[in-house]
Amino acid sequence: MRRRCPRALRRRIPPVTAGGSTIAILVAAGSGTRAGGAVPKQFALVAGRPMLAWSHAALARHPAVDDVVVVVAPGAAARARAVLGDVPMVLGGATRRASVAAGIDATAARGATRVLVHDAARPFLPAAVIDRVLAALVDHDGATPVLPVADTLARGDALLAQTVDRTGLHRIQTPQGFRIDPLVTAHQAWTGPDEPTDDAQMVRALGGRVALVQGDAMLDKVTHPADFAAAEAKVTRETRTAIGYDVHRLEAGEELWLGGVLIPHDKGLSGHSDADVALHALTDALLGTIAAGDIGTHFPPSDPQWKGAASDRFLRHAAGLIEARGGRIGFVDLTIICEAPKIGPHRDAIRMRISAILGLSPDRVSIKATTTERLGFTGRAEGIATQAVATVTLPATVAA
Ligand code: MG
Repeated sequence: MRRRCPRALRRRIPPVTAGGSTIAILVAAGSGTRAGGAVPKQFALVAGRPMLAWSHAALARHPAVDDVVVVVAPGAAARARAVLGDVPMVLGGATRRASVAAGIDATAARGATRVLVHDAARPFLPAAVIDRVLAALVDHDGATPVLPVADTLARGDALLAQTVDRTGLHRIQTPQGFRIDPLVTAHQAWTGPDEPTDDAQMVRALGGRVALVQGDAMLDKVTHPADFAAAEAKVTRETRTAIGYDVHRLEAGEELWLGGVLIPHDKGLSGHSDADVALHALTDALLGTIAAGDIGTHFPPSDPQWKGAASDRFLRHAAGLIEARGGRIGFVDLTIICEAPKIGPHRDAIRMRISAILGLSPDRVSIKATTTERLGFTGRAEGIATQAVATVTLPATVAA
């Protein structure tokens, strides 16, 4: 439906070049029930990170975006702050249109001359799309990214439903960009009765000129449960490898815990915890892959609560930190260095124990052992040393 074009939109559009400010409105006020999760979908994790955090980061890091205002549902502000920290936030309304309107008020109050409106459920936003949208605002009231429709379309549910000609059909994406004045006017003028599904149609309904720019498949909306797997697959991952090393002293009267397994021996390893040198070296290797310090950073020997602690909890902690960053452990490899006991008879037990602690298949856990030909402290059976190497993949944007 076309409406009468207000005077403000009929005048020749002045060029928008340098100057002014661009503020993004991130719409995250939906209840998102179609995704089927326990939380609204914008808070659901994609590669270890809430969707809202992905889309916010993409806007916030673009050099042409001066600020980002997040629109959240009433009652979700605390949850959004837990994800994003202390960023500009306003409460949304009962409809998408009302939520965007709340965001427009906030951006206008902040002096925006150009506004980007983006759906939080499109977590992966290439910078080039923002570039294209903003470039189009030089001589348009608005701009929206679009992709051509590739699938055959049909109307109706009969077996021979009417096929719809795809010519001229587009999939509309966000972020949509607007000059602030036509966007404000379009929202003020909208009287319904239908609820608009985007802002470009509102500006066009008033005769505003909206450019179509090239969208990106990365911007596909995450709506249904299957979309999450597709979104995960879009995450660029980087591989990281890190090492760990540890030594503990062998003493009479101690239990020998090695690789999470209690090994019968006339001496055991001494230390503040259970002194499991293999799990300690592996914990340090895993912490190294996310540059998260070492085992002493997380479990200080000065803290009495770790006295005699079982070291599998240290290893689980490191694995949990990796998981929280969307990381996946690919492979771990240990070399246990000692004269005695013989490691060979216990190798499979250690391997199975570490694979159980980390939730890794045993073919991703390698246990090796060596002596030092009776040289040095290990050769004199005064202690046991372990070297560990771990390889993980991390979402590249999280790692950045
Ligand atoms: Mg240690």
